[in-house]
Amino acid sequence: MDDSLKRDAARALAQRAAREHRLWVRPAGGIGEHVRPPQPATRRPRDERPDPAGAVERPRAAPAGGAAGLREREGDTPAGGDTGESFPRGAPEPEYGIPIAGQLEDPFPAYTDIAAFERAICNCRKCPLGQTRQKFVFGVGDPHADLVLIGEAPGAEEDRLGEPFVGRAGKLLDQILAAVDLKRGEGVYICNILKCRPPQNRDPLPSEVSECEPHLVKQLQLLEPKLIVALGRVAAQVLLRTSDSLSRMRGKLHDYRGVPLMVTYHPAALLRNPQWKRPTWEDVQMMKKTLDDARGG
Ligand code: SF4
Repeated sequence: MDDSLKRDAARALAQRAAREHRLWVRPAGGIGEHVRPPQPATRRPRDERPDPAGAVERPRAAPAGGAAGLREREGDTPAGGDTGESFPRGAPEPEYGIPIAGQLEDPFPAYTDIAAFERAICNCRKCPLGQTRQKFVFGVGDPHADLVLIGEAPGAEEDRLGEPFVGRAGKLLDQILAAVDLKRGEGVYICNILKCRPPQNRDPLPSEVSECEPHLVKQLQLLEPKLIVALGRVAAQVLLRTSDSLSRMRGKLHDYRGVPLMVTYHPAALLRNPQWKRPTWEDVQMMKKTLDDARGG
């Protein structure tokens, strides 16, 4: 590559980084100033296509033989981490028909401290993902957090580093939080439903969710958050036991075992679909207001 091509490539990269950064700096005169215009229509992941009026989304069939193929998932960390890498679509999605256990049930009554609980389960092999993971990814943040953000499962970078939401999507999440004066680790806790990475970032299987969700339930019982935010369609569908699309779930408060829960896009999805940054900003403002109200502020 000659010098002029290198300069052009560097300039393009810098412009893109500046655009992404600009959106999450709190706008002085309204978010519209910082939202990029809608991008030319490309095929969206199926879960983010607009709901036809009155349409009811039918539950999808569970994958045959327990093998969920690869596809580009809304809100997920793509294969190879949150690098924007795409992967084949079209595989059936798991159906999350897991019964909700009693609200007060404590799946691990022996533990009253979140660090001790992490140590107790960090070698878990209750499902096959325990054999294929590199690192167990428990969660990170303030053990007294009022706000808990929950994704679906670790991606490649998370699996490598043992921490949720790292890489580009994690940086964007930090920018989103900073836009409303929140910070990872300060009143905020971040984790996933599954603590181990599904191979090639496929969707979690119902059997994996069934085995791993008690860990999340215990985490939440120890954290006692005032608000939960589900990041991405799959996390929201699992937590709410629904097959609704993300657009139907966002914009309102739900209930997860007695804790208010709201739904928004996964930051990895925003990296690939900047047109979703505007609705995400609306969700983030709602998140902040709900949190402030819950804190009595
Ligand atoms: S995904 Fe959850 S249940 Fe499966 S091995 Fe990892 S920690 Fe255990």
